[in-house]
Amino acid sequence: MVALIEASDLSRHFAAPRSVADMLAGRRPTVKAVDGVSFALAKGETAGIVGESGCGKTTTARLVLRLERPSGGAVRFDGTDISGLEGAALKQFRRRAQLVFQNPFDALNPRLSVGDSLREPLRNLDFPRAEWDARIAHALTRVKLPDPSRWLTRYPHELSGGQLQRVVLARAILPEPALLVADEPVSMLDVSVRAGILNLMREARDTMGLAALYISHDLALIRYVCDRTIVMYLGRVVEDGPTHEVVRHPRHPYTRALVAAVPVPRVNQNRDALPIKGNVPDARHPPSGCRFRDRCPQAVLRCATEDPPLRAVGNGVLAACHLV
Ligand code: SF4
Repeated sequence: MVALIEASDLSRHFAAPRSVADMLAGRRPTVKAVDGVSFALAKGETAGIVGESGCGKTTTARLVLRLERPSGGAVRFDGTDISGLEGAALKQFRRRAQLVFQNPFDALNPRLSVGDSLREPLRNLDFPRAEWDARIAHALTRVKLPDPSRWLTRYPHELSGGQLQRVVLARAILPEPALLVADEPVSMLDVSVRAGILNLMREARDTMGLAALYISHDLALIRYVCDRTIVMYLGRVVEDGPTHEVVRHPRHPYTRALVAAVPVPRVNQNRDALPIKGNVPDARHPPSGCRFRDRCPQAVLRCATEDPPLRAVGNGVLAACHLV
């Protein structure tokens, strides 16, 4: 496997607001949004990071795109550690790794026409002026908005949500990147246009040979578009494997609960449904041992003291659970 992205022991810790009790005790609480995450993404591969709000998936995506700097560990892109990139090298990286924004209604400046919104990144990334028109026409055709003259003079308020998200996708593929990161790419759209946008993204991936990293709380979406599924819980990866394995034979109790909680067709109908109660614990004070133990219906004594490592459990799957 030729890795495009390699995240190694990645962490991102934030200083949390101090309570009176913290001040009296002289504590400086820390939120470990991402805490020891490792995974690789091959060239042309599509992976999804899934988990509840607060699991660290969006922070992981921001670290992969160098929109945040890690507190520890590293992200390598095509073999280069991106943490030290500056100037021209950082711009070169930005050409090759692009973000598809979650909310198309916010992603485009309402005062700029579609044409200006598409020219802006080409200018910022130092593409020669002579290339702009051809790149824009090509990108608009890829997202099924042919006849650029029809779209370039229009403003965001004149477009539907689906058309806006197509423009956002066109903007992301303008530099012909090697990686697209899409954070909840259809969550703000009407259900009727979601499949069309996801199909466009799949088409862009296939025709351009892109690798893609989807971030979502929705396992059904990840299953629809991703070859591989990475499940995160409270800043950690708890399961990582081929999507068909993770969805049909989830190993980790948290993954099993996610699968049981969403309507995923054709999953193993004989599985034990393990709905879980409660919320993700406060990331300032994660449970000892396994971070999932407060909500895990299978927890045993050692789960309170021993943190289960992520390890190979067969069929290309990694899982972090003492009982797997
Ligand atoms: Fe549940 Fe224990 Fe496995 Fe954690 S290690 S998922 S608490 S059984």
